[in-house]
Amino acid sequence: MKNKADVVIIGAGVHGLAAAFNLAKKGVKDIVVCEHKYIGYGATGRCAAGVREQFGLPLTIQLAKNSMDVTVNFKELYGYDIEYTPGGYLWLLYDEKDVDLWRNNIKLQNSLGVNSVLLDVDEIKEKYPYVNVKGVLAATMNPRDGYVNPFKVLYAYKEMCEKVGVEINSYTTVTGIRRENGKITGVETDKGNIQTDTVISCAGPYSRRVGKMVDLDLPVYPQRHEMLVTEPIKVFFPCMVITGPWYAFQTKPHGSVLMGITFPDEPLHDDVPSLQPASSWRFLEEALKVAVDIMPVLKDVSVVRQWGGYYDMTPDGQQIIGAVPEVPGFYLSCGWSGHGFQMGHITGRLLSELIVDGTTSIDISKSDLGRFARGELIPEPGIIG
Ligand SMILES: Cc1cc2nc3c(=O)[nH]c(=O)nc-3n(C[C@H](O)[C@H](O)[C@H](O)COP(=O)(O)OP(=O)(O)OC[C@H]3O[C@@H](n4cnc5c(N)ncnc54)[C@H](O)[C@@H]3O)c2cc1C
Repeated sequence: MKNKADVVIIGAGVHGLAAAFNLAKKGVKDIVVCEHKYIGYGATGRCAAGVREQFGLPLTIQLAKNSMDVTVNFKELYGYDIEYTPGGYLWLLYDEKDVDLWRNNIKLQNSLGVNSVLLDVDEIKEKYPYVNVKGVLAATMNPRDGYVNPFKVLYAYKEMCEKVGVEINSYTTVTGIRRENGKITGVETDKGNIQTDTVISCAGPYSRRVGKMVDLDLPVYPQRHEMLVTEPIKVFFPCMVITGPWYAFQTKPHGSVLMGITFPDEPLHDDVPSLQPASSWRFLEEALKVAVDIMPVLKDVSVVRQWGGYYDMTPDGQQIIGAVPEVPGFYLSCGWSGHGFQMGHITGRLLSELIVDGTTSIDISKSDLGRFARGELIPEPGIIG
């Protein structure tokens, strides 16, 4: 392991690797990534890998759209097939208030170049005959939304990083961050120390723990979210189907159905309570109940596996990206709740711009850490899980 670096990145999830790759592309020479366990050990390796542009705030739409441009063109840009499968997110709406909210969201999305539409019940029945439309008033749909294979994304970044000289150290835990006169001078790891003046924390659910290393109390709280996957069946639905806290999509080419559901009473933790969260019966029962209700044809399909992972939650459910003025040389990408996977490409690019050029091509100032102290929270109108 190098003992000196221009930038040290904590965490080899999609954010850490994308930041490393983009920094190297911008000419930064000595970049070291330290990963507690192995690439994808955190939320990235446990997520649904859904990618969408349907958000409700100008900033998140802009971030999502720019990240989606990379997702859609990943093969042309970098030569790796990440199994991007469009098909759209079909967001079922049961309440007049939600229809109004999403009508406004769609207006905003369209004004920012996202081609989402509102479908009426007849259109839903015609295009998605397997969906039970009982009680449904309308649905939103954006054809470019879809999913990718998260492991293919991670390994593409791993190889791309290695080709441009980034050093990735697995099984290397950052245990401390050294400072002199307030400025960062290095990191301590269980494999030795690295001298550096720039640290990016991409520690996902462990972000609060890392924040404490520079005396910051980051409002980032791990929260368990669970998923399951069924046996493969003939592919019959092309899109992500969502009803509020529940979602499902069918992977291609094998045809397994992947689904998740969010429980509002799932506790927020001060720190990651166990290496990986346990699975629950409650999740299995509730997720499948909704599944069979929305798509009755799923009733005899067998579940083959379930697992959990941690979202990194903030008080407004939104990300924290950027520099921390109180700790010169310390940068953050965390608090991504349930939509961070898809944002890795753009955030990596923005962090590299911020560190190398001192400015970013998208204004991320509203995503800063200081918003919590200022009371300028940015909650998203209408969010999945
Ligand atoms: C069940 C589930 C479903 C999800 N579905 C979606 C989805 O469909 N679409 C979407 O966009 N997002 C989704 N998400 C959210 C998404 O997975 C995360 O927002 C995203 O992966 C975060 O990436 P990251 O690189 O910031 O963090 P992580 O992938 O969590 O990586 C952080 C890494 O930092 C390492 N680390 C921590 N502390 C240290 C230390 N001290 N030293 C060294 N290494 C350290 C950890 O080991 C970990 O590997 C989902 C999440 C879950 C849990």
